[in-house]
Amino acid sequence: MKYEPVIGLEIHAQLRTRTKIFCGCSTAYGAAPNTHVCPVCLGMPGALPVLNRQAVDYAIRAATALGCEVQPVSVFARKNYFYPDLPKGYQISQYEQPLALGGGLDVVGGDTPHVGLTRIHMEEDAGKSLHEGFVDSSRRTYVDYNRGGVPLIEIVTEPDMRSGAGAAAFFSQLRDILVWLDVNDGNMEEGSLRCDANVSVRPVGQQRFGTKAEVKNVNSFRYVQKAIEYEIDRQIELLENGGTVVQETRLWDSATGRTMSMRSKEEAHDYRYFPEPDLPPLVVSDERVAAVRATMPELPEARRRRFVASYGLPDYDAGVLTQSVGLADYFEQVAATAGNVKAASNWVMGEVLRTLNDRGNTIEDVPLAPDALAGLIGLVDKGTISSSTAKDVFARMYDSGRSADDIVATDGLAQIGDESALLSIVRQVLESHGDAVAQYRAGKTATFGFLVGQVMKASKGKGNPKLINGILRRELDGAA
Ligand code: ADP
Ligand code: MG
Ligand code: ZN
Repeated sequence: MKYEPVIGLEIHAQLRTRTKIFCGCSTAYGAAPNTHVCPVCLGMPGALPVLNRQAVDYAIRAATALGCEVQPVSVFARKNYFYPDLPKGYQISQYEQPLALGGGLDVVGGDTPHVGLTRIHMEEDAGKSLHEGFVDSSRRTYVDYNRGGVPLIEIVTEPDMRSGAGAAAFFSQLRDILVWLDVNDGNMEEGSLRCDANVSVRPVGQQRFGTKAEVKNVNSFRYVQKAIEYEIDRQIELLENGGTVVQETRLWDSATGRTMSMRSKEEAHDYRYFPEPDLPPLVVSDERVAAVRATMPELPEARRRRFVASYGLPDYDAGVLTQSVGLADYFEQVAATAGNVKAASNWVMGEVLRTLNDRGNTIEDVPLAPDALAGLIGLVDKGTISSSTAKDVFARMYDSGRSADDIVATDGLAQIGDESALLSIVRQVLESHGDAVAQYRAGKTATFGFLVGQVMKASKGKGNPKLINGILRRELDGAA
């Protein structure tokens, strides 16, 4: 029998606010344990939550960019469960009335061109249990509440994906958009972005979905793909052997490359949701949505299309240059100053990205100012230096803060565009390469390229190639 996998994701993204969702504690990552805490996020009796406006605006921004309907009224609820990293004994989350409904994302590549979204809701993050690196860690659990109360959005997809690779492609493109929007830092190692994968299989042709298992704790795109692929194989094998898939929560173990049962449906929490009595319903006006929309950066897809339409760039260039806001901004600044858009694109996609990659840097680290690169492009356009010299100048200017003009003048790199100077170099070369000249005149015209190369070399790469070609032809053919 043939089976079709069905996958839906639940993605938790921390919002990049400076302070937590219901109190003024810092959200900064990596502080000493339990230093970013207060009575509110520690759940002390009598402490009252106050909703962070910025968190709401970020959530609206993400929802709007993903095409969701932001709801005029949404409601915070208490999700009750007992866990050491949850000091109140409940998590404040949205349940029956989430912030946003619907929406979706067009996915480039992968096997699902469009993944629908069910909802986006707001909630607070829990603290973190630590099991390693402390006194008597094998018998004790330590808890760090710094993360408790950091604002999250949970993005729930429709069960639209059909493979591990398709789910990973969606997740990675969703991450790019959240980072582009500046609502999430995309740092999966620090847990700012986390994914649970719901997986089921059904016989091809069957309408009804199979029973799903939810795989938690998947912390990279590669693991999302691997965990889902493992889970698909496990479920198919189970069914083929006459078994049934049970609804359960499973944990991905990256060390063994398997998923393991964590708790079954019988052990599932009964969260006993009820509306949070300490917070009024969240009311979001159309004006507020419009105001958030007005401050939103142009989305990657729109910017890519604009680069093609208004700059006349090839699709390929536009795709590369819109990988991040920073890169797109950098390119546009170079292009605006240099005027020569295609050259700006070539330099940014070529030397700039190559140098950044070599050093493991991103565009935010680039020491070369856009105006400085534009200056270099200008020198090539004016014919002051050749494109090969320009690469050399680029390397000299990259970290030095020196301008291209300065380097070309001080280091004596300007192109030799003086006819008489080049003529004397050409004559010297012809004299010392009598054999090649004879071959050329005997009809072996390919030798011409060799001679151009020799003149270039003799001019230390500074000869204007166009002039050299002309002079060489005249000297060779004229004297024949
Ligand atoms: P639960 O109530 O168990 O949390 P939901 O209906 O809220 O389940 O769905 C949670 C996630 O699981 C969503 O992303 C949804 O698309 C996905 N999902 C639901 N049913 C299935 C299924 N049969 N197979 C795979 N994914 C599913
Ligand atoms: Mg769920
Ligand atoms: Zn606090």
